[in-house]
Amino acid sequence: MDVSRLLDELNDKQREAVAAPLSNALVLAGAGSGKTRVLVHRIAWLMEVENIAPFSILAVTFTNKAAREMRGRIESLMGRSLHTMWIGTFHGLAHRLLRAHHAEAGLPENFQILDSDDQYRLIRRILKSLNLDEKHWAPRQIQWYINGNKDEGLRPHHIETHGDHTQQKMRDIYAAYQEACDRAGLVDFAELLLRAHELWAKNPDILANYQRRFRAVLVDEFQDTNNIQYAWLRMLCSGNTNNIMIVGDDDQSIYGWRGANIDNLHHFLKDFDTPTTIRLEQNYRSTGTILKAANAVIDNNQGRLGKELWTQGSEGEPISVYAGFNELDEARFVVSQLKDWLQQGNALKDSAILYRNNAQSRVLEEALLHEGLPYRIYGGLRFFERQEIKDALGYLRMVNHPHDDAAFERVVNTPSRGIGDKTLTQVRDTARLHNCSLWQASHLLISEGALKGRAANALQGFTGLVTELEQQLLDEPLEEQANKAIKHSGLYAMYQAERGEKAQARLENLEELVTACKQFIVPEEADEMTPLAAFLAHASLEAGEAQAQLDQDAVQVMTIHTAKGLEFPLVFMAGVEEGMFPSQMTNDEPGRMEEERRLCYVGMTRAMQKLFITYAESRRLYGQDKYHTASRFIREIPSDCVLEVRLKSTVQRPIHNRFSRATSHEAFESSGFQLGQRVRHRKFGEGIVLNYEGSGEHARVQVNFDEYGSKWLVLAYAKLEQA
Ligand code: ATP
Ligand code: MG
Repeated sequence: MDVSRLLDELNDKQREAVAAPLSNALVLAGAGSGKTRVLVHRIAWLMEVENIAPFSILAVTFTNKAAREMRGRIESLMGRSLHTMWIGTFHGLAHRLLRAHHAEAGLPENFQILDSDDQYRLIRRILKSLNLDEKHWAPRQIQWYINGNKDEGLRPHHIETHGDHTQQKMRDIYAAYQEACDRAGLVDFAELLLRAHELWAKNPDILANYQRRFRAVLVDEFQDTNNIQYAWLRMLCSGNTNNIMIVGDDDQSIYGWRGANIDNLHHFLKDFDTPTTIRLEQNYRSTGTILKAANAVIDNNQGRLGKELWTQGSEGEPISVYAGFNELDEARFVVSQLKDWLQQGNALKDSAILYRNNAQSRVLEEALLHEGLPYRIYGGLRFFERQEIKDALGYLRMVNHPHDDAAFERVVNTPSRGIGDKTLTQVRDTARLHNCSLWQASHLLISEGALKGRAANALQGFTGLVTELEQQLLDEPLEEQANKAIKHSGLYAMYQAERGEKAQARLENLEELVTACKQFIVPEEADEMTPLAAFLAHASLEAGEAQAQLDQDAVQVMTIHTAKGLEFPLVFMAGVEEGMFPSQMTNDEPGRMEEERRLCYVGMTRAMQKLFITYAESRRLYGQDKYHTASRFIREIPSDCVLEVRLKSTVQRPIHNRFSRATSHEAFESSGFQLGQRVRHRKFGEGIVLNYEGSGEHARVQVNFDEYGSKWLVLAYAKLEQA
């Protein structure tokens, strides 16, 4: 291969990084400057020029999707398949290690991954078994505490409580939780990382093996590594035979709330052997205007490492800011702009709607559905996290590994088979007493005749069903296993009996699960596992980063956190108002405001050509209407980068960052009505004025009627009255 090809389409600084001599290196650069591109070319360079085998390369990405894309790009650059190269997320890689060395890691061969929802349920059960009241010991907080300690590498016996009663109790809960996990062969997400770290710490020969193997280690989005991930990398590279290149941007550190430590960027420079630092400064992603605006916003943060970003590209269009009257109006505006985008001959998949909180997606989704625009949600309502899917997976997990207590609890009485709380308490107590799984405890109780007639029959019904399923599923292809589990467990019939739209959607999801099984290809790293075990691990790890078919042209909908590293020609940032973004909680914690601002920077720099920022002046939150003003982040954008948008009929005029309610709707209000006003219509009854367009005899208003929903009416004919 002509290696100069690997340096084509790179600027001088990027080339310097790609062709750097083997040593440790930090590539520090702002958004869209080609950090990820550098990593891709660097990996190809290492193989081609430094003769490092794919087998000896370890690359870490932030999401599974990013890992797949990176592998695809390197393979197309090299023109061959590179299956022996390890590319994945920290969690994915840790999982792989633990599978390969489960015995040394103290895990059963078929250990299961406990996702965040399962973890929460398990914690609640532990609290119950310890007779602790959830009111005083909030399960979410315990979950936070356990994961936080694991992220710091701390086991219960490491934790100093200084005689503090609450601290001691928390530590005891953590210990009881961990015992329950160990007993059932369950590994939560934080545990994956901690175990993988301990595996190496306790087994120097295994560590040495990987140190010899991975001559090159590469890490993307390094600014968001947490302490245990950092320690893991450091241990791997302590053999001095490895070279590590990390790329990152301190301005894009947005997971501090989840334990990521921005200081790891600084630590890297002193903990690793003589690293070189390379800075990239040219941005290839966004227009000049978007870049100028994003730079101005992030400039309000203190103590940055400092980077100047410039672009050769055109200035592009101004950023459009739209003040919705409420969140429905905001969503409607976004959808109308998307329709324009589509009409101009663009593809929907080139557009993204980003928001601060998952809960914001519902209104946006409804608006998209209403207009029939296909969309794909990343994160949030994840496919593999839905109730019915987790039920079905629960049965599959029982078949795969009946000692999986989390799965047992999930499905033992779903569908209902008359197993009451009392029986379950007995099962749990027995399990604790004998230090065995719930499954074993059930058998014990049944064989000892310790249960009364009806209870015994009910529990036996369940154990019998699982045993039967196990036999029926034997040697079946994966999709048939899923199909049988769904049907024979009674899940399908249960949702069928429920009726209604929601139940229908659940049935469709169950069918989709069978399809997912059919499409599932056992990944290389899981070739020693059964297809079922591999699929279950996949379901836990990926939790459906995307859920719709990939080939469909659809708007991409996700939180800003999820959008990290991605780019789209058209971007909407919705809900950019004080109290939402920055969020209400920001004022309570030091450093949070700066993290929110970095999040805003990440969001804005996802846009390539056109950025819309929208907010709602009033928003219904948790059943209450809240009134908000434009976010300070909007006010931090230089006014020459911004255009306030009015709907079609009205003229677009530049604004000087005066986002007040008073000035925005003057024209309409001269007609005698106001946005937000209650009105009465002869036929449709009462409703609220949501929007308007046009003027004179063409003026139309949109009214959200209490009974009939939202309608557009010609003002001249509608004969609206004030209600
Ligand atoms: P982020 O900080 O958001 O993760 P990044 O620094 O990783 O961004 P990339 O995603 O690698 O940036 O690159 C941004 C865009 O610029 C991509 O579309 C990439 O293909 C393009 N790009 C990067 N370098 C060049 C170059 N030298 N010539 C042309 N396009 C480039
Ligand atoms: Mg990147």
